[in-house]
Amino acid sequence: MIEELQQYLSAHRVKLIAVSKTKTPDDILRVYASGIRDFGENKVQEMTAKYEVLPKDIRWHLIGHLQTNKVKYIAPFVSSIHSVDSMKLLTEINRQAEKHQRNIDYLLQIHIAQEETKFGLSMNECLNILQSDEWKLLKCIRLRGLMAMASNTENEQQIEKEFSSLKSFFDELKKYFSQDSNTVKFDELCMGMSGDYKIAVRCGTNVVRIGSLIFGERNYSGT
Ligand SMILES: *Cc1c(COP(=O)(O)O)cnc(C)c1O
Repeated sequence: MIEELQQYLSAHRVKLIAVSKTKTPDDILRVYASGIRDFGENKVQEMTAKYEVLPKDIRWHLIGHLQTNKVKYIAPFVSSIHSVDSMKLLTEINRQAEKHQRNIDYLLQIHIAQEETKFGLSMNECLNILQSDEWKLLKCIRLRGLMAMASNTENEQQIEKEFSSLKSFFDELKKYFSQDSNTVKFDELCMGMSGDYKIAVRCGTNVVRIGSLIFGERNYSGT
């Protein structure tokens, strides 16, 4: 399954993040053996524990909601944070990155689903952050793009509509951020999971977050 998925994604030039939440270090090593180095976790403690025991060439991506007071635990090693949904969180990530003398990549999470989920910025809120003077002062973090989750529905048209709207927004911002700098390299649109990644690829995503398709079903829904 992994090989087939990797082939499909590489044919479409889409980067894979293997979502390993709830899975053991041994489970991860089996997937690591197939060449995957990007892993996604949604909980700080779980990610930190796995980081400590697993090979250091793994790139860890935090994909779940992040509380400001927990940034310090992952700041020394995290490769990117996908779930940035406030200026307050961003300020703390910048502060911790500076403290650890590193640069941390991040994506802004956009709320595109119909459901009332708690997390994610509206497109307007996202623009407000990017136009603020505060944002321009953050020098130890680098904006890589946008992340979102579609509605949890069987209605493929609905999912496609949501993904397409994010792709349009991404393309607009991409025009604005056409020049790379130390703080912006706007090249990642991260949408699509096991159930909807093919729709996301059709809509032009270039990063997907896939868990159960790679690792098998999780025992509990760890979102
Ligand atoms: C769990 C999770 C995924 C992966 O879900 P699967 O359906 O197992 O592929 C992707 N993104 C986020 C934010 C998640 O929490």
